[in-house]
Amino acid sequence: HIEVRNLNKSFGSHAAVQDVSFQIKRGKLIGLLGPSGGGKSTLLRMLAGLETPDSGDIFINGKRVNDVQPQLRGIGFVFQNYALFKHMTVFDNIAFGLTIRKTSKAEIKARVGELLDLTGLRGFEHRYPHQLSGGQRQRVAFARALAPRPELLLLDEPFAAIDAKVRKELRTWLKQLISTLGITSIFVTHDQDEAVEVADEMLIVSQGRLEQQGSPVHIYTDPQTAFVAGFIGHSS
Ligand code: ATP
Ligand code: MG
Repeated sequence: HIEVRNLNKSFGSHAAVQDVSFQIKRGKLIGLLGPSGGGKSTLLRMLAGLETPDSGDIFINGKRVNDVQPQLRGIGFVFQNYALFKHMTVFDNIAFGLTIRKTSKAEIKARVGELLDLTGLRGFEHRYPHQLSGGQRQRVAFARALAPRPELLLLDEPFAAIDAKVRKELRTWLKQLISTLGITSIFVTHDQDEAVEVADEMLIVSQGRLEQQGSPVHIYTDPQTAFVAGFIGHSS
């Protein structure tokens, strides 16, 4: 269970995130949508601990994590621009979050093995990132994020750099993976069809403000602000 209360973040005089509050139930996949510059990445970066809020609180399973270091928050992330470690094999990339936690060799081997199966990368464990396709690389990034068994998975346009056909396969795969693992996830995308297909719920943000939270059906049949109506292509 994730809760955000009255989160604010400005860069200079520009308010990137303004008074954002929401709750997410365990196991839900949330689509985070809104115009470019609306504050989506800033919001995720604050959840991940990569950016400090000016004010507001972040709770994971009832525990306030504002002062907890990123690696200890129980959050995994896959960002479009958060690349794999080039000099490490697929195995070592996936194992990274376990190695820094001083997990035993035997457990690392077992856990990485499970993830190679879940991501369909069995047989690729000795390759380096440059020997993989873009889709395979993003699956390694997912495996790396999932290895420490995070409570929350943050996905910031993870498939943005991947061509349309593979992207479609990946989102079907992702939905399946997340429902198998039952992990709470927030997925940023510019593609509304993608969000409708994968998300249990959507969060719509614009100019740093949360405009609406609800199921895709709810958002499409009952947009609660003029902005949301316009954004999803309704005329009001
Ligand atoms: P996109 O869909 O294009 O990725 P976004 O919704 O993720 O956009 P953010 O990246 O969160 O938007 O940016 C929100 C606002 O904050 C933008 O106006 C952006 O220019 C500004 N911003 C983000 N990071 C910084 C930073 N480190 N320094 C200054 N301004 C920033
Ligand atoms: Mg962004």
